[in-house]
Amino acid sequence: MKNRERSAQLHEQAMEVILGGVNSPSRSFKAVGGGAPVSMERAQGAYFWDVDGNRYIDYLAAYGPIITGHAHPHVTQAITEAAANGTLYGTPTPWEIKFATMIREAIPSMERIRFNNSGTEAVMTCIRVARAYTNRVKVIKFAGCYHGHSDLVLVAAGSGPSTLGIPDSAGIPQSIANEVITVPFNDIDAFAAAIEKWGSETACVLVEPIVGNFGIVEPNPGFLEEVNRLTHQAGALVVYDEVITAFRFCYGGAQNLLGVEPDLTALGKIIGGGLPIGAYGGRREIMEQVAPLGPAYQAGTMAGNPASIRAGIACLEVLAQPGVYEEFERLGAMLEQGIRAAAEKHGAQIQLNRVKGAMAVYFTDQPVYDYDTAQKADSEVFARFFRLLLDEGICIAPSKYEAWFITTAHTEQDIADTIAAVERCFAAL
Ligand code: PMP
Repeated sequence: MKNRERSAQLHEQAMEVILGGVNSPSRSFKAVGGGAPVSMERAQGAYFWDVDGNRYIDYLAAYGPIITGHAHPHVTQAITEAAANGTLYGTPTPWEIKFATMIREAIPSMERIRFNNSGTEAVMTCIRVARAYTNRVKVIKFAGCYHGHSDLVLVAAGSGPSTLGIPDSAGIPQSIANEVITVPFNDIDAFAAAIEKWGSETACVLVEPIVGNFGIVEPNPGFLEEVNRLTHQAGALVVYDEVITAFRFCYGGAQNLLGVEPDLTALGKIIGGGLPIGAYGGRREIMEQVAPLGPAYQAGTMAGNPASIRAGIACLEVLAQPGVYEEFERLGAMLEQGIRAAAEKHGAQIQLNRVKGAMAVYFTDQPVYDYDTAQKADSEVFARFFRLLLDEGICIAPSKYEAWFITTAHTEQDIADTIAAVERCFAAL
C-alpha cells in the first residue's frame, strides 16, 4: 500500500477552508467509499506525482482535456508566450480568428463560433439560442448524460419515455425542471414517443453523440440519424454536446466521425489545451440570434482570453499531426485486449466499451448501452478496483461512470505496465 499521509493531511486542511475539500464534487472519493482524495503536485506527459512522491500513470487526463499529455512542450510554449504578452485584453485578438477558423475547418457545421469559458456555459448558451430561434421552451435530453451544472440540464429524471424532469440538485425550481424531458439513450421508440407528445413545444434536443458520462456508450446504428429526422420534423433543433467527444476520436467532432450533423454544437475540454475554455457554434442563421447581431444575450469577461486560445491552437496542432488517432486506436486496442484477457483469466465479470483512446470498464455481466444498464454495474467492486489500481500507481477517475483516456504521451510500455497492474487487481478482487 502506498503512503499517502501528506494527501490525508492536506485533505483535513482543505476541509477547513474549501467546501468539501474539493473544487468539483467528482474529485472527492465519495463514490468510492470516502476518505482523502490524492493530492497531486506535478504532472508530466502520461504521469502524475502526488504530494507523497508516488508516481501514477494517468488515465484521468483531467476528465478529458489533457489529450496531449501533461505539459506538452508545444502547448506549454504557447501558454508561456501568451502569458508574456498579457493574459487578458478585453478586445478582439488575431488568435481567436485563427482558432475559430481551425475549428470550423475541422467541424464544418459550426459556421459561426463563440468562445466562452466552460462546457457548462457552452451548452447553456446553445439552449438559449435554440429557444430564441424556435421561440419554444422545452428541451429533450437523454438520461444519464451530463451537460454541465446549469439549472436546466441538471435533470436526469427516471428512465422511461416522456418522464417529466425531477431535478438532481437542490436549488433548481420545479418550474425549470418541468421544461426538461428525459428519455433513455439508444431507445428510438421512447424518443419518438417524447417527440410525439412534446415535439411542438420543444426548442432543442440535447445529445452527446457518443456518450462519455456513463462510461463510453456508442449510439446504435441509425439512432442519431433518426433523432435528427424526428427532431427536425417537429421543427426543433439538434444540439450536440461535444464537450468530451470533439477532437477525441478524430480531428473533428464525433459528428464528423459518425457522419451526422447537428444545428448547434457545444465544445470544451480538449480545445483549451488544459486551460479553461468552452465554445459553441452552428448554422449561421441560428447563431445570428446572438448579441451583438441578435436578441439572445451571451457574454464573458474572460471569453476568448489569449492564453486559453493559444493553448487550444497548440493542442489542435499536435492533434493534427499524422498518425495521432491511429495511435490512439492502436494503444486503445492493446489496452482493451490486455484487460479482457486479464478479466477472463481471473474470472472478473466486466464489460469494456471503447472508442479509440477512450474506454470504460463496468463490473457487470450485461452489455452497457444506456444509463440504466450502466447503473447496474457493481459500484462496490469498482471502488475496490479503483483503490487497488491507485496502489499499483494507476490513476483513473473515482467513479464507475467516468472514462479512461489515453493521451499522446502514453507509450506501449505504459499500456503494458497498466495491463500487468490490472491483472494483479483482478486477481486480488
Ligand atoms: N458536457 C459534457 C458532455 C461534459 O462531459 C461536461 C463536463 N464533464 C460538461 C458539458 C461541462 O463542462 P465544464 O465542466 O467545462 O463546465
